[in-house]
Amino acid sequence: METRELICVTCPMGCRITVEMEEGKVLSVSGNSCPRGEAYARQECIQPMRILTSTVRIENGIHRVLPVITEKEIPLEKMEAAMAEVREVTVNAPVEVNDVILEDIAGTGVNLIASRSMQKI
Ligand code: SF4
Repeated sequence: METRELICVTCPMGCRITVEMEEGKVLSVSGNSCPRGEAYARQECIQPMRILTSTVRIENGIHRVLPVITEKEIPLEKMEAAMAEVREVTVNAPVEVNDVILEDIAGTGVNLIASRSMQKI
């Protein structure tokens, strides 16, 4: 049996959670103060998820790069492939906040969107 210690990042309480696992399956979760902590711990142990934030190149914009973010979390294991796609992107100004920059990033079904507007020079 494997025991994993996590700190829940779902809210500022930061509960210390203990997860007991065997053969990739969660046997028990303890230390959480609410159900959201258990859900977080199970997800983190089975398939950790993260929001990707980065920048892409932008032409004719008031800055040289545009901040971007995934619409929701993507599997941590897809992060490297997603970043490889991000590095290939160049957009043209103007861009509005929430414009889709890249659809279905790394085959996750999640879109990469602009996290701010950028005017044309
Ligand atoms: S277990 Fe619940 S109370 Fe504790 S940090 Fe997570 S969300 Fe907050």
